[in-house]
Amino acid sequence: MAVETGCCIVGGGPAGVMLGYLLARRGVNVTVLEKHQDFFRDFRGDTVHPSTLDVLKELGLLEEFLELPHQKVESAGLVLGGSAFQVADFRHLPTHCKFIALMPQWDFLNFLSSHAKKFPSFQLLMQHQAVDLIKERRRVAGVVALNNGQKVEVRADLVIGCDGRHSVVRSAAGLKVIERGVPIDVLWFRISRMPGDPSDVLGNVNYGKVLILINRADYFQAGFIIRKGSFASVQARGLDAFRESIRQLAPWLGERVEELRDWEQVKMLTVQINRLKRWHRPGLLCIGDAAHAMSPAGGVGINLAIQDAVAAANLLAGPLLERWVSDRDLAAVERRRLFPTRVTQGVQLLAHRGMGRIFDNPKPIHVAWPFKAIQHVPGVHRAVGYAIGVGARPEHVRDDVKRSSRGVGLANAACVGLVCAGVGMAATAAVCGWAAWKIWGKIAEAGSERGSRNAGRASTTAIARS
Ligand SMILES: Cc1cc2nc3c(=O)[nH]c(=O)nc-3n(C[C@H](O)[C@H](O)[C@H](O)COP(=O)(O)OP(=O)(O)OC[C@H]3O[C@@H](n4cnc5c(N)ncnc54)[C@H](O)[C@@H]3O)c2cc1C
Repeated sequence: MAVETGCCIVGGGPAGVMLGYLLARRGVNVTVLEKHQDFFRDFRGDTVHPSTLDVLKELGLLEEFLELPHQKVESAGLVLGGSAFQVADFRHLPTHCKFIALMPQWDFLNFLSSHAKKFPSFQLLMQHQAVDLIKERRRVAGVVALNNGQKVEVRADLVIGCDGRHSVVRSAAGLKVIERGVPIDVLWFRISRMPGDPSDVLGNVNYGKVLILINRADYFQAGFIIRKGSFASVQARGLDAFRESIRQLAPWLGERVEELRDWEQVKMLTVQINRLKRWHRPGLLCIGDAAHAMSPAGGVGINLAIQDAVAAANLLAGPLLERWVSDRDLAAVERRRLFPTRVTQGVQLLAHRGMGRIFDNPKPIHVAWPFKAIQHVPGVHRAVGYAIGVGARPEHVRDDVKRSSRGVGLANAACVGLVCAGVGMAATAAVCGWAAWKIWGKIAEAGSERGSRNAGRASTTAIARS
């Protein structure tokens, strides 16, 4: 089977579905390939940040989106060695929504894709797994996918890899990955939640362990952070010891830890932080986790992936409509998104370094006075709230058509040509004027010389006559 499209997006995660929506909205022919048959996967990260909510507002989708079941997170806290501290406050953000919306990612993706399907130029192909790229004349010209074992060729003007941290697209394109060492992995599981339990996102740190509890109405999505590669030894110590560790950090969970009866209920997710050295090559671009895998620290990965999608749509919709996407257009997307990626990953790496120190101290934590003092610095919680909820360089949906850089190149060339012609004409006029002035001077000089010669001759004649 063969499919022809303007833009083939590989991966129906937050980056891919948002980008598909935005491009289709601008009239670009888009085909999104998703390898699974639905979006239903647990522990994928369910945070929809205020800056993403602003994007939904700009698209006129916010009101309907907020009708879906979700929890509002207005602040985040930390229990350190038994004492509670506020970490981030989202209630004063300069955004339309002053909270993070917690919503299962499949609800978010179903919502967005159902709206995208209303555009005639949008196509979502589920159960289509990209396995290779089509390359022609040193340019990526499409994707080879498998649908129920059948080969499907999707030819496109541009391929965008949004296929996450284990991206097939980026490896098939030979894009180089810069790995940053991460000392942690996360064990995800559920524990039921009772009325009166803490409602905000809560980190619990003590005895060399870290437990994150995210309020999901009737249950907590719990993340137990472990040293990288130590899941086998955690399992070897047994489920009883694991349950006891949880209870030690959050004693108020009480008997609820007994709900964990099998390691099957615990999903180990490998944490990575990495970044592509170059996000593109002719005919291909990577964004989201495919370009920069994010740690769950701060829960900012989905937001960053969506911001990438907004920037890519802003910069590429015009060139895609003109059916000419140059390397310069693709480089512009990388340039725009590299700064927020670097800043966010830098902060995550710092947070992980702190995690290493926590693991090294299995005793009860004594909170250092500088940490307590920082709590009293005015605005500090709001600043952390901004860093998490909005982040560096938030993107906004733009509807002006950016022309392809070929068009821009032609226009630039035309401008340069006009300027050169103008300068040339001015220079020629100046030289001609100068020459005319000189010639006129010479003529005048010659004229006056001739005049004085004639006058001299006349006076000589007069003297001779006399
Ligand atoms: C343990 C953990 C917890 C996290 N928690 C949070 C959180 O709470 N909040 C947050 O913001 N971020 C969180 N993150 C990070 C977040 O999940 C990612 O940064 C974000 O999902 C990236 O979005 P994406 O669209 O780029 O990629 P992904 O979400 O990974 O989506 C990629 C999509 O591509 C599909 N795909 C993959 N390969 C192919 C292929 N060959 N062909 C077709 N389709 C393919 C996949 O099925 C998937 O649907 C967490 C990460 C981890 C590891």
